[in-house]
Amino acid sequence: MKKLIYLDNAATTRVAPEAVDAMMPYFTEYYGNPSAIYSFAGEAKRAIEEARRTLAAGIGAKPEEIYFTGGGSESDNWALKAAAEAYAAKGKHIITTKIEHHAILHTAEYLEKNGCEVTYLDVDENGLVSPGAVRAAIRPGTILISVMMANNEIGTVEPVREIGAIAKEHGILFHTDAVQTFGHMPIDVNEMNIDLLSASAHKLNGPKGVGLLYIRQGLKLRAFVHGGAQERQRRAGTHNTAGIVGFGKAAELAFHSMEQRAEYEMRLRDYLIGRILDEIPYVRLNGDRTKRLPGNASFCFRFIEGESLLILLDQNGICASSGSACTSGALEPSHVLLAIGLPHEIAHGSLRISLSFQTTKEEVDFAVDKIKEIVERLRNMSPLYEDALKNI
Ligand SMILES: *Cc1c(COP(=O)(O)O)cnc(C)c1O
Repeated sequence: MKKLIYLDNAATTRVAPEAVDAMMPYFTEYYGNPSAIYSFAGEAKRAIEEARRTLAAGIGAKPEEIYFTGGGSESDNWALKAAAEAYAAKGKHIITTKIEHHAILHTAEYLEKNGCEVTYLDVDENGLVSPGAVRAAIRPGTILISVMMANNEIGTVEPVREIGAIAKEHGILFHTDAVQTFGHMPIDVNEMNIDLLSASAHKLNGPKGVGLLYIRQGLKLRAFVHGGAQERQRRAGTHNTAGIVGFGKAAELAFHSMEQRAEYEMRLRDYLIGRILDEIPYVRLNGDRTKRLPGNASFCFRFIEGESLLILLDQNGICASSGSACTSGALEPSHVLLAIGLPHEIAHGSLRISLSFQTTKEEVDFAVDKIKEIVERLRNMSPLYEDALKNI
């Protein structure tokens, strides 16, 4: 089998072997329903609470503020829909941005159809949201501000601390989609004035289909999934014991080695960015050069289609993305690249490479060599490129 070079860690990650080992007994041995009374279920219940404590401690929260969900998308849906409902008497205006994940954007659009008013803030050419623009958008009926901590496509890290302070000053709820930063960058929900926070296990080497919503103590948000009394009657359904245990273990590892991992990824990322910008003409780096996720590198290559590049990379065993997994396969260019002001023809030539702490320099070198070769080959077949060269 050809060697696989996996450079799509923003889409999902490999489950840590330690997390798999930690999960296994909850499939085979301690399979009891954690809500049951008999002592056989006790071990499952204990393991869930241990994971909850680990996850809470990692972001400066209390264990009872952590609610397990089916992933980042569910957490985002819950935060927005329940906040809109809970604060309907106060107002119906929500502030978010044009570069959020679709789990936020499509939920906001749904809420608009149901009587909410939503302001979608612009970002600058690097994808940064301006705290001043957040402040200016606040009006008497504003009930919620939702700004992601870092963008999954272009990697830009947002000034969440400043935005949290503004929200607090105005007594407005603040939600952040921290799916890309949880376990990758330091987070403190109190210092950052975060009231609601979404995270997902599979973006930090945990299993798919499990996430969390942090809900600040005292917030009166309704249940999202109705049924049994699990998760303090706010999220019904038999606990995903093994998934939650895997989430806890992956987070423990991530919190413990966050600094070393981030440093390693940043060095490799900057090396990769340097090589691409130096060795390939007509390419731009998307996102902020320094306020950037440690493992993210996002580019637009002129005169080529990102999709063609991805297919040819795949033939060389390289997994990368044109933006987000959700927009791949669609012909519309990414809403994020359009929001940073790129024209359609440039946005179409996008490539996102997302590294992990397990990516090696050899893999990066192999990938860059292939990208160089493929970009050149595609450009030589492109009439646009030929025309452009004539005009230079
Ligand atoms: C992956 C991702 C999500 C969705 O999380 P799932 O667990 O896959 O539902 C939401 N927001 C961001 C920023 C993401 O990167």
